[in-house]
This record gives sequence, C-alpha cells and structure tokens, in this order.
Amino acid sequence: MNTHLGFASSDPRVTVLNDKPVNTRGRYVLYWSQMFRRPADNAALAFAIERANALRLPCLVYEAVRPDYPFASDRFHTFLLEGARAMGLGLRARGLQHAFFLPRTADEARGVVRKLVSHAALVVSDDHPSFVCPIQNSAAARFAECSYIIVDDTTAIPMSLSGKAEFAARTLRPKILKARDFWLRPLDEPEPAVRATFDLPFHATPIADATNDDIAALVASCAIDHSVRAVAGTRGGADVAEERLIDFLEKGISGYGDRNEPSAPNTSRLSPYLHFGHISARGVALETLKARAAGAGELACDGFLEQLLVRRGLAFNYAEYVSAHTTFEPVPAWAKTTLAAHEADPRPWLATRQELEDAHTPDELWNAAQLELRARGIVHNYARMLWGKIPITWTPSAPEAFDHLVYLNDKYALDGRDPDGYASIAWCFGVHDRPWPERAIFGTVRCMTTRSARSKLDFEGYMRTASTWRSEVSAKA
Ligand SMILES: Cc1cc2nc3c(=O)[nH]c(=O)nc-3n(C[C@H](O)[C@H](O)[C@H](O)COP(=O)(O)OP(=O)(O)OC[C@H]3O[C@@H](n4cnc5c(N)ncnc54)[C@H](O)[C@@H]3O)c2cc1C
Repeated sequence: MNTHLGFASSDPRVTVLNDKPVNTRGRYVLYWSQMFRRPADNAALAFAIERANALRLPCLVYEAVRPDYPFASDRFHTFLLEGARAMGLGLRARGLQHAFFLPRTADEARGVVRKLVSHAALVVSDDHPSFVCPIQNSAAARFAECSYIIVDDTTAIPMSLSGKAEFAARTLRPKILKARDFWLRPLDEPEPAVRATFDLPFHATPIADATNDDIAALVASCAIDHSVRAVAGTRGGADVAEERLIDFLEKGISGYGDRNEPSAPNTSRLSPYLHFGHISARGVALETLKARAAGAGELACDGFLEQLLVRRGLAFNYAEYVSAHTTFEPVPAWAKTTLAAHEADPRPWLATRQELEDAHTPDELWNAAQLELRARGIVHNYARMLWGKIPITWTPSAPEAFDHLVYLNDKYALDGRDPDGYASIAWCFGVHDRPWPERAIFGTVRCMTTRSARSKLDFEGYMRTASTWRSEVSAKA
C-alpha cells in the first residue's frame, strides 16, 4: 500500500462543480484558499499543484480576507491576517506565489475572483459545508469559463464516505473506524514544477513580512466591527497551531480524561485553528497516533481522537447532509413537539439578547461562560454545554433561544461560524440525542442545570476567573 496519500482518479475528496473543460489558454492553475488556510498538509493545494504540474503550468494561490463576511470584526480579521502571514511565509518557502488581498471595503472586493478565474486553466478550491464557502463556490463555478473543482480536506476521513445524514455518533463511529487506517496517512506533497510570478488585478498586501503592529494597522483600516477586539495572547497561523499541538501532546494529553474539569482543563485548544484551517484534522490525528505509539496513554489519545474524528466528523456530516443546518429547522420532530408542549411552563426569568450578550443574568456560572466567550473567544466544553442549555429556560420558545445562541457564538467565538458550533448548539435542542425523562420547560430534551454541574465539578476557580474576564470585557467596551 502507498504510504502517502495521493489522488486516485475517482478520489472521494474531489468534486467537479461545473462541466467546463480546462481552459487551454489559461496561464495558471488557480488555488483559491477559503477555509484551508495553510501552506502545507492541505489536500486542495496538493491537488492544485498536482494538476498544475500535469498541465505544465504554475499554481497561483489566492487568499483574501474580505470585510463583508458575517460578523467580520477585529477578532477574526486579526486571527486571519496572522494566519495569512504564516501562509505567505510557507508558500514562499515552497516557491509558490501568494496572491493575498485585503479589501478594506466590500466595493473594493467586488469582481477580483472573476478576474483571476478568467486567466485560469483550472480552478481548485476548498470543499467545506458551512459559512460562505458553499455560496462562493457555486457562484464562481457558474461564471468560470474553465473547470472548477473543490477538494474536501475538512475531517481527515472524507465527508462523502458516509453518504447520508448520520443519526448519532454511534452510527458514524463504525464507518470512521473502518476507513481510518486508509485515510490517516501523510499527504503526498508534490513540489511545484513550474514557477512564475504574475501581476495581480488588485493591490496585493505583502503580508508575509508584516509585523504585529502592521497587522493591527491593517485591521484598523478595514470597514468591520471594531468593537469585538482581538483576543490577546491567542495568535493565529499554521506555525502557532503546530506549536500548540506539540505542546498539548507533550504536556496536556495525558490528562485528557479529566477534560471536563473546568478549573484545569486539559484540552488542546485547537478548535480556532481547525476552524480557520490553520491545521488539518489529519495532521492532528497523525501526530496523536505517533504520541500514542510513543506511550502518551492509549485511553487519553483514543478519547481525544473520538472528539476530533467522530464528534467533529458528526458535526461536518450534519452540515453536509442536513439542509438549513444553521437554523432550528432540522431539530427532530420529537424534540420540537416536546419543547413546544412545554412553552407554557413558567420560566424562572426572561432574558433579552442584550442581557445575554452582556452576561447580565441571574446565573453566575452561565455569566462566567459568556464572559469567557467574549474575552477569550472560546469556552470550556462543559461550561459551553451549560451555556447552550440554560437559555432554553430564559426565552418564551426554544427557537428564540437557538437564535440567540447562534448569534452569540458566531459573533464572539474564534471557532464559531463552523459546523461544530451549529451541530453542538443543535445538540442542546435534541439533535444527535434521544429523549430523556420529562422535565419542566425542556420536556424530554436532555436537561442540564448549573446546580447539578456545580455539585459534580469544581467550577469555583472558573467563576473566580470570570471577574478578570468581566474587567477585560468592560475595558474593551
Ligand atoms: C453550545 C456549544 C457550542 C459549541 N460551539 C462550537 C464551535 O463554535 N466551534 C467548535 O469547534 N466547537 C464548538 N463546540 C464543541 C466543543 O465545545 C469545542 O469543539 C471544544 O470545546 C474546543 O476545545 P478544544 O479544541 O480544546 O477541544 P478538544 O477537547 O481538544 O478536542 C479537539 C477537537 O475535537 C473537536 N471537538 C471536541 N469536542 C467536540 C464536541 N463536543 N463536538 C464536536 N467536536 C468536538 C473540536 O474540533 C476540537 O478542537 C460547541 C459545544 C457546545 C456545547
């Protein structure tokens, strides 16, 4: 068996989005990096280079950070630009041109992809089921006068292997375990055979050499929400993701079994890097398997791989196969019925979105989780489950709670606007779960209370830290 992963002719990761041929007058193969923003271990980029080599053309890598994606803010722009800097450095080292575009306004952004595509022999982009990616791909595939291909490198094991919406983790797990050994191999990384530098139809930003101050100034110059500030101490980029993974595998993973413990969480904190594509799930899994073989602890490593491959895989399966996956709509009928039947149950308190956003609720633990989200852009997983469950009791109906949660998660979470976020919020409302004994307000949807969580886990230290987060949030406001 090949020890590296190349592209067979009927590779399940590869989808041709239009029926146009290769443009024989094209000057390059264009790789448009939208979600896999990394210069290596990137199947879409590897495929683009392979095709470029076959056509004896250079591969041009286009990456943009537009100001008009939903919830564009200093927080996400900073992380993206730090990622683009690492991308620029990595591509330069591989002899590839990084066409990086930072339009300051939506007007400036208009038409650039169309111009780049018009000179391409072939376009390759990322296959990702959420956020702006599917819309951008189908629009570009329509106007492209050449073949437009997307490559799935989201979940290590291709999304299409499942072939349908999975019912729960238990239905996806056997498929992943069966396919795992084949797909968990290092990617075959072709070297670009033809190199060239092109004049670009926009004013490119030399991001590879940008300092942190340059990045702050670039972010300040964009027409985005400047009230959601960058997260201090959490830098973006493939280089930082790699360091974080190594650090976790050396120091954190042995304690992964205690990951629910909020005062000393032993988790990887890789979700923002996975979300922005600064690291691949395959790369993380392969390094984890190496650590496991070197004695890092089988139970801990397997527990981590379960979250990374099965739980995250289930979320991407949900986004890929369930329509309207960002909304309350696909919540199962049993859950919708029971939640609606309990709408008349008295609520302990009714929240406005603003009170939730400002963490001004009667529940100290919920406030702590919301403050962590606002200050750190990420929430401890157990606290996040409570964060997703409790607002069901504070709104007149479950769909209202759902909308508040998606809004807050997408606005503040570095790992938000992601299948993991939409599927996890939907889980709070019964998706991928089963009926439980009936309770007030929740009906038979699994109920969680902060009182019971506080009796099981040590949330005191977590809540003490919340005062620091509150000061940070207030200082920023
Ligand atoms: C209400 C709610 C909202 C959430 N929103 C998001 C979100 O927007 N983005 C996001 O990435 N995750 C989300 N999660 C899932 C989970 O909380 C985070 O993935 C995890 O806490 C990230 O921390 P980590 O990287 O240290 O995870 P680790 O424990 O180190 O796990 C490694 C990776 O596995 C995946 N993973 C871990 N736990 C889960 C899970 N329960 N479900 C699916 N994938 C998982 C993530 O990609 C994570 O980075 C949400 C959970 C809930 C309950």
